[in-house]
Amino acid sequence: MTVNTSPTTCANHPGVETMLRCNRCEKPICVKCAVRSPVGYRCPECVRSQQKIFDTAVWSDYALGFVVAGILSGIASILIGLVGSIGFIGWFLVIAGAPTAGLAIAEGTRLVIKRHRSRSLFITIAVAVALGAFPSILLHLVSFNFFGLAFQGIYLAMAIPAVYTRLSGIQLFK
Ligand SMILES: [Zn+2]
Ligand SMILES: [Zn+2]
Repeated sequence: MTVNTSPTTCANHPGVETMLRCNRCEKPICVKCAVRSPVGYRCPECVRSQQKIFDTAVWSDYALGFVVAGILSGIASILIGLVGSIGFIGWFLVIAGAPTAGLAIAEGTRLVIKRHRSRSLFITIAVAVALGAFPSILLHLVSFNFFGLAFQGIYLAMAIPAVYTRLSGIQLFK
């Protein structure tokens, strides 16, 4: 590995100085481009080509992952609705609980998809998490429960990234 002490410019963003290099192709990358992978910082291109190699998902993973993530998310969204309805403290509990719910959904889904992985599988599961909250959202909508809707929004905004990050092991470095 090359040790470069003088800053160079990002391969994707000319004009952005950086000390970071992709640990696979040694290309200089800035913090916006760098993707934190289990093996270190990589450029988006290397991450993409690695993902193709590690696509191990089969069709049953999509079906089972979708159903399990959808059901778990449905349960989580009902719980979020209940917790949110207890009053002011509910806001804090919802905000604190939503990422945890996401992790629980990811772990539950992992029981059926094992350690299989592919980007499209993780996206399928993220969509299932969103759809799982749909009955709760519909219920709040027809009952004009706008706080309930807000809680579902918070839940999805926090749980979906948590599920995706947990399953993929890849976190966008910002
Ligand atoms: Zn690279
Ligand atoms: Zn860059």
